[in-house]
Amino acid sequence: MANVTVTEKVIFNVAQLLKEPVGATRNHLVDADLQDLVPDTELNQGPDEPRVSLTGPLRLMHVTDGVLVQGDLSALVTMPCVRCLEPVRVPLNVAVEETFEPTIDLITGQSVRPEEEERALWIDEHHILDLQEVLRQDVLVAIPVHVVCRPDCRGLCATCGKNLNEGDCDCQSEPDPRWAALQELLEDTKDKEK
Ligand SMILES: [Zn+2]
Ligand SMILES: [Zn+2]
Repeated sequence: MANVTVTEKVIFNVAQLLKEPVGATRNHLVDADLQDLVPDTELNQGPDEPRVSLTGPLRLMHVTDGVLVQGDLSALVTMPCVRCLEPVRVPLNVAVEETFEPTIDLITGQSVRPEEEERALWIDEHHILDLQEVLRQDVLVAIPVHVVCRPDCRGLCATCGKNLNEGDCDCQSEPDPRWAALQELLEDTKDKEK
């Protein structure tokens, strides 16, 4: 494909695009690591591992209202398994279709700040279109709440904390002291009811 720019950031200077006639486009191929896109979660992984990587085609088009951004991105988000806390790479599809409005007139230099609250969809006074906030929200919405490393993950032993996927621990047969305490409580209650 001709005229495709590979970009590691999802921040674009659209000054030139806005000078071109309506309908002008820029094609980008996103290949970005976006650590800050998801909330910090405790992960047993190296600091160099990307928490979120985003790849895929992204098109910017000059439209009457500003710049239309369309993208069909694939995200790979690293999340802890809810049972064993091991990192799990979750593939997500992130479709983007948003129109960003300029906040300054390119010809006159005057402020044309739109009267709406959607700050994430503004092109700033330096003609910078920053897609990070939009993508962050899209990724957050797409992330599943319940991530497991595999359907039959055995999780951690409630007593010793050993990852049971790596084998049984020695305390398998012993009852969990917390359950024992609860059991006593229940028996106390029963006694009182009598
Ligand atoms: Zn697991
Ligand atoms: Zn154990």
